[in-house]
Amino acid sequence: SQSELDYPFKLLEYLNGFRISKAIFSACELGLFDLLLQSQKPLNAAEVAQTLGTSEDGIERLLDVLVAIEIVDVEVVHGTAHYSSTDVANLYLAKTSPKSLHDLIIYYSQTIYPLWNNLVDAVRDGKNQNEKTFGLPSEEIFSAIYRSEEEMLKFMGLMNSTWVIDGHDIVTAFDLSRFKSVIDLGGCSGALARELAKEYPSSTVTVLDLPAVVQTAQQHFAQQDDTIGFQEGDFFEGEIPPADLYILARIIHDWKEEKNLKLLRKIHTACHPGGGVLIAEALLFENRRGPTTVQMFSLNMLVQTEGKEHPPSHYTRLLTDAGFRDVQVCRTGKSYDAILAFK
Ligand code: SAM
Repeated sequence: SQSELDYPFKLLEYLNGFRISKAIFSACELGLFDLLLQSQKPLNAAEVAQTLGTSEDGIERLLDVLVAIEIVDVEVVHGTAHYSSTDVANLYLAKTSPKSLHDLIIYYSQTIYPLWNNLVDAVRDGKNQNEKTFGLPSEEIFSAIYRSEEEMLKFMGLMNSTWVIDGHDIVTAFDLSRFKSVIDLGGCSGALARELAKEYPSSTVTVLDLPAVVQTAQQHFAQQDDTIGFQEGDFFEGEIPPADLYILARIIHDWKEEKNLKLLRKIHTACHPGGGVLIAEALLFENRRGPTTVQMFSLNMLVQTEGKEHPPSHYTRLLTDAGFRDVQVCRTGKSYDAILAFK
């Protein structure tokens, strides 16, 4: 194969990465994948343009890019291209699919993308860019994330969509059946809690989150015959109710070391003897040389929060310092991993 020095193929592909992301995001925002899923037959660019209210030229160029990256299929009949969805687009990109990543994509496109526009400053200053991007104080992470009702809903949609595809691996990483009362601290929309309740029907699962989040969860994410309960609270300032198992999913990576230690000590005190804590995070390799997606998440934490991603040894040390023992680590091989420790 040709050397990168002869011609920078790989480098050029990386430089183009943002265009690929934005092409998929834009197709999602336009409702293209929903239209292709609902359509009984392949559609030409004129038909798509008319239904979505776009220019024909614009949508044709976008469709052709999506064909090139194998997210849309094409067949040419009498010289006219007719487009249809692939199975992957139907399953993960259409809004109505139970495994839809639509909410994740909207958040990436409308919130993460503008934040990453200020990555230079984030790296230079070593702190998040909420102030520069949204005019909100950098210390109050969740005031920035929840800066409007619409933003709260979008963020909760993002959190929710992860567990639709990754939740089952997390709740089955260890046998959790012995834990009869479970509290998901900062459990947001309740998506992971629902996966847990489904897997362990004899356990009682409660989501504890900030009052406004709990109210929004109940209004917008509740399900018929919901198997989980909600409790309004504040895990830093308020009481942590007693339980057998506490879930901390994507909580530790938001905060500075001392806050995490304080939180884990509080959990240790509240925890029933023999109980435990289950941490769900994306784990770095011990030598920090990957996985690339987790390194990217860590950069994202720099831009948006006060935390970062860590290798397993960091969590083991935090948990041990807080009084937990028998720390077990399970890499799922997907986006998120699980760590279990006992009181
Ligand atoms: N655990 C969820 C998940 O993995 O999808 C949500 C993770 S999100 C990064 C952090 C969560 O912590 C949010 O739902 C947020 O509302 C909640 N949170 C932040 N500060 C909190 C506090 N002081 N007390 C309770 N929940 C808090």
